Amino acid sequence: MTWKELPAGPGRCLEILTEAGWAAYPVGGWVRDLLLGREPGDVDVCTAARPETVLELFPSAVPTGLKHGTVTVPTADGAVEITTFRRETGYADGRHPDAVIFDAGLTEDLARRDFTINAMALAEDGTVIDPFGGREDLERRRIRCVGEPGRRFGEDALRMFRAVRFAAQLGFDWEENTAAAIRRQAPLAARLSAERVRVEVEKTLLSPRPGLAGAFFELGLMAGLPAQWPEGAFSLTRLPAQGLERWAGLCACLLESGIISDCAAFLSGMKLDRRTVRACRAGEVLWRTGLPGEAGGWRRALSRCGAEACRAAAAMGAVTGVPAAPAALEKVLAGDPCVAPAGLALSGGDLAALGYSGPEVGRAQRRLLDHVLDMPEDNTRERLLALLKSEENCDRDR
Ligand code: ATP
Ligand code: MG
Repeated sequence: MTWKELPAGPGRCLEILTEAGWAAYPVGGWVRDLLLGREPGDVDVCTAARPETVLELFPSAVPTGLKHGTVTVPTADGAVEITTFRRETGYADGRHPDAVIFDAGLTEDLARRDFTINAMALAEDGTVIDPFGGREDLERRRIRCVGEPGRRFGEDALRMFRAVRFAAQLGFDWEENTAAAIRRQAPLAARLSAERVRVEVEKTLLSPRPGLAGAFFELGLMAGLPAQWPEGAFSLTRLPAQGLERWAGLCACLLESGIISDCAAFLSGMKLDRRTVRACRAGEVLWRTGLPGEAGGWRRALSRCGAEACRAAAAMGAVTGVPAAPAALEKVLAGDPCVAPAGLALSGGDLAALGYSGPEVGRAQRRLLDHVLDMPEDNTRERLLALLKSEENCDRDR
């Protein structure tokens, strides 16, 4: 395994740096994933070159995190983050280093990284530079801090969330001292920004072991005190691996366990996008009032609340005793049903041409839609015209 395994873009970045005389290595997640035989993500590069030099060497580079020595180079194979070797002094606030010093070497740079499996670099000839036993931990399938876990979590409390996230993504366990330190240091999580936490929670929810999101609550990393998460009661794994469904499923688990009482408040607090919050809020109402049991009910729900709210509601149902809900909803959606006046085979213009005027048009559309929600096969021009005709006849007879 050498640099030849690298996609062309990152490979070229390393070539430019080394040809200019600077030490440079692929590092962190890419090396870890390559060793695991896992599909590697974006390539991170660490180098002895200072950020100003990196910016000069790469005219298209963007200074994305100059304070931390990070410059991003866009390539045809994805963005390459190039970070100058650095060491950090104290972490008075438990989130950011007090000072970042760029006079470090590779080993010091690896020492500031969170876990041993993320603290390896790859030399050009294929040598894995692994001063903290990352490869052994990969073999033993465990997440272990570089250095003393209590201190490392004290420096940056987000690492506790990352420990859970990597366990979920990789199917690893926590090394004993690392796990004990998370339990001890969990209250430090309160000082983290919701945005940083959300990223890790979402990656956990979208991982092959989304149920590990429960660990955030059991360990007391979220929602204050450690909370009981009824083991095996909820299966987030059966939900589609999409943000909306997984967040909605998590909310249902938390509501059922009494850990939260309002899903929209919880999600807004996590700084989730408004669209997801809105869908989950409406989805919660639908879930609480009872999910539809048949296709017509889902079409009515779609007409009332929209597809996203229905998907959220179905996901909530799926983890709380109605496992078939998402599939039933998707089946209805696959038929592309008419759930709004715009989908009717007779348009407002058609109705106007037939002599309906002003508010009559809207009223007629609502009646037709009401019919089509129950009888989707009647949404053809002919049948809707026939329906209007029979309405007229009824009116005349009355
Ligand atoms: P992913 O596959 O999610 O990108 P990754 O390991 O590349 O995983 P990143 O968040 O992209 O994770 O971070 C890149 C590298 O930077 C990590 O592998 C790790 O070495 C280091 N790192 C990231 N966040 C921290 C942190 N909070 N504390 C210490 N080191 C960190
Ligand atoms: Mg990465």
